[in-house]
Amino acid sequence: MEQVALVTGASRGIGRAIAAELAAEGWAVCVNYLEQRAAAEDLVHRLRTDGCAAIAVQADVADRQAVRSMVRLAEAELGPVELLVNNAGISQYGLFQDTGDELWDRLLAVNLTGARNAAMAVLPHMLAEKRGCIINISSIWGLRGASCEVAYACSKAGIVGLTRSLALELAPSGIRVNCVAPGCIETDMMRTLGEETRAMLVEETPLGRLGTPEDIAHAVAFLASDRASFITGQVLGAEGGFIV
Ligand code: NAP
Repeated sequence: MEQVALVTGASRGIGRAIAAELAAEGWAVCVNYLEQRAAAEDLVHRLRTDGCAAIAVQADVADRQAVRSMVRLAEAELGPVELLVNNAGISQYGLFQDTGDELWDRLLAVNLTGARNAAMAVLPHMLAEKRGCIINISSIWGLRGASCEVAYACSKAGIVGLTRSLALELAPSGIRVNCVAPGCIETDMMRTLGEETRAMLVEETPLGRLGTPEDIAHAVAFLASDRASFITGQVLGAEGGFIV
């Protein structure tokens, strides 16, 4: 039986590419989504057509109980989760003073607490087996300042802290925890920024282009593989030289 990967926020964008690449590498994949059920089911259909085991499961990662139920379902349908990719995320663009309590709380709940909720849910099995792998998706904006994206940058910096601290805590149990920090990647999230900002970000990226979701999926697949078996607690930038 295949090893099982859970990818949060896998209906679109980066998560979708990660789920597809992991499936191509032989993982059975649980495709988590929030609202875009048709997109998630379309991906699952494609993966199954290619002979991969996959299921789509709706859950808000900010809801700890829903995440627990999702992991139970994945375990029942596919087997215990051995790879967790915490990818689900939302962004916001606006002045710090205009970021109300609700928006601030929601950003941190989804982007940071969501990763914590999913890790909590998969850890009992990983700890029992003394193996497993967690990969968190941060951002270049978790590594440097981001004007008008304070809440987002805080949540992504938190992901870096989560990665490093959890890596140290879990290393004796044989569980690796790493992080990928994408640069500017062509997805729906990036498209909300508008053409002018997009062009500016391309200019700021030394490799002279936006990244593709597949660029990030390659980095995740590497960290998930045995080729990375001595790598833990690291932040792998996949950002075209944006932060060098
Ligand atoms: P995207 O195109 O907006 O897709 C977001 C995905 O997350 C969707 O599958 C969405 O599900 C899911 N999602 C959102 N809130 C969720 C929740 N509460 N629970 C479960 N799933 C949820 O975003 P993306 O660009 O692919 O970004 C993916 C990750 O990469 C995010 O963590 C983002 O911060 C990070 N990142 C992106 C960029 C970039 O330039 N695009 C750069 C750095 C880091 P539905 O489709 O069902 O709504």
